[in-house]
Amino acid sequence: MYDTLIIGSGPAGMTAALYAARSNLKVGIIEQGAPGGQMNNTFEIENYPGYEHISGPELSMKMYEPLEKFQVENIYGIVQKIEVDGNVKRVITEDNSYESKTIILATGAKYRLLGAPGEEEYTSRGVSYCAVCDGAFFRNQDLLVVGGGDSAVEEAIYLTQFAKSVTIVHRRDELRAQKVIQDRAFANEKIKFIWDSVVKEIKGNDIKVSSVMVENVKTGELSEHEFGGVFIYVGMNPVTSMVADLAITDDAGWVLTDDKMQTSLSGIFAVGDVRQKDLRQITTAVGDGAIAGQGVYNYIVEHS
Ligand code: FAD
Ligand code: NAP
Repeated sequence: MYDTLIIGSGPAGMTAALYAARSNLKVGIIEQGAPGGQMNNTFEIENYPGYEHISGPELSMKMYEPLEKFQVENIYGIVQKIEVDGNVKRVITEDNSYESKTIILATGAKYRLLGAPGEEEYTSRGVSYCAVCDGAFFRNQDLLVVGGGDSAVEEAIYLTQFAKSVTIVHRRDELRAQKVIQDRAFANEKIKFIWDSVVKEIKGNDIKVSSVMVENVKTGELSEHEFGGVFIYVGMNPVTSMVADLAITDDAGWVLTDDKMQTSLSGIFAVGDVRQKDLRQITTAVGDGAIAGQGVYNYIVEHS
């Protein structure tokens, strides 16, 4: 029986584990991949206090290292379901089951699909959701980035080091991205914009992407543009399928908590991007994790 089981070892889960383990609790952290979560797909982080800039994988390792010192148990697994049996919580993975007094859900968010014809067919054949993973395969090509948020604009800038040109297509005439990121994109000679427009279809030659049909949402005008790759950054969806039966999310699937990171179910906490919140960042994930790590200690003291 664990004192707390944390699901997901992104920045929120790792910080929760650190705080809980420093309170001498028996802590397990279940992760399906490498520690770091979305940070592993981030080339450079420039807004984490204490570092002028640091790569995502490096910050991931810096957060992971202290967990070994405090004997957090790392468990590999894909969590499928969480069950509540009175004060006992059960975490079911594809081949195991674990019991704990408390759970901290830190499963984050996953990229949203665009839903355009050709997207699925050409995924990994010119359509990508990760510039850091795939950008180097597109040297000297004309690339399209879809979206107007921080991810789209930042990753478009990243892609300019490989690409001949990078075009950002956005459905409005104003970006959502932070001003400092926008300014950098506007100053980059390799970056062009198609405003007020959406992707209608991604076309290919059966082997890979060759062009994209774009529609201007104001005029209805359709145009075809040649691109060797399409990077899609149209937002994120919460990863909450394992709690679908527990009624702790809003209609869109984001987990609802109070300011102590407690859900409506006693002993079940949620932290980081998976929560319904305004600002999804590493700093806010880490803050949530600290509050929940301390919160499970208080919960266990109160319930023992
Ligand atoms: P995540 O980082 O999403 O981690 C969740 C973890 O849970 C993952 O490791 C996942 O494998 C695991 N998991 C999920 N489901 C299961 C399951 N069923 N079983 C087991 N494990 C599971 N923020 C910044 O502050 N600065 C930046 O520069 C920045 N750049 C970004 C660039 C990109 C391209 C993206 C996509 C995001 C960026 N962000 C940035 C946002 C930041 O990465 C997130 O806010 C942060 O990682 C959220 O942390 P988290 O721990 O809540 O979730
Ligand atoms: P986001 O902020 O939700 O932006 C999604 C973008 O895609 C928006 O511009 C949106 O348009 C557009 N969009 C949504 N659905 C679309 C559709 N069907 N067709 C065309 N366009 C569509 O998502 P994100 O950029 O992935 O960022 C996710 C979170 O991570 C945010 O909290 C962000 O701040 C954080 N993040 C931070 C950094 C950083 O701090 N450096 C970097 C990356 C990500 P509208 O603008 O019209 O809504």
